[in-house]
Amino acid sequence: MKKEPEDLMKVITLGESSVGKTSIIERYIHNSFEENSISTIGINFTFKQVNLKNGKNIYLKLIDTAGQEKYKALAKSYFKNADAVLFVFALDNQESFDNITNWFNLFNDIHNGKEGIPQFLIGNKADQKRIVQKEVIDEFLSNNRYKYYETSAKENSGIDELFQELAEDLYKISLQTGGKNRTQINQKLSYPKKKKASCRCSP
Ligand code: GDP
Ligand code: MG
Repeated sequence: MKKEPEDLMKVITLGESSVGKTSIIERYIHNSFEENSISTIGINFTFKQVNLKNGKNIYLKLIDTAGQEKYKALAKSYFKNADAVLFVFALDNQESFDNITNWFNLFNDIHNGKEGIPQFLIGNKADQKRIVQKEVIDEFLSNNRYKYYETSAKENSGIDELFQELAEDLYKISLQTGGKNRTQINQKLSYPKKKKASCRCSP
């Protein structure tokens, strides 16, 4: 099937270094995992065709960013036209969770005003001893209506489910809007509006 440009949905991953952004994509695309994965430099892209429940296909362009400060400007240049965003933290790293609010604000200050695009929060490394407590995450989610998934790139849990739901949501939105006016439709789907995240979690 020939790819139409409007079929290609741009999904960006954001979050601190070493939380597993690259590993999640690697697991999803290649079903592989590296114990010592090499840090992302700048930006990487991968593409994936997703078969939807209704038998149709959607194409994802996964934009994998580097979390380091020096690459933030580069990452920001991809925020503007993103169709969806995954905010990733590691369940064994409290600081990576506390910094999600910064990533959220950075992203929502820049992206092109399509309010309420799908924004998923991902707690990765679910195979490790949990440091970020469930109650703290629940509290955060009650203030910020993300869809939330816990994943393990290492043990391959939660990842297919998360991308499937993301793809289904993106398809629903494009179907209802013809790729336009996403704001109106996404509000119906109850994604967070463009606003500063609030979080009671202390650094
Ligand atoms: P990124 O900087 O966010 O892209 O993180 P990477 O994907 O490069 O992963 C950083 C480190 O965490 C690597 O050593 C990975 O092997 C490890 N890692 C990634 N995901 C998981 C996971 O789900 N569980 C465990 N135990 N380790 C993981
Ligand atoms: Mg990486």
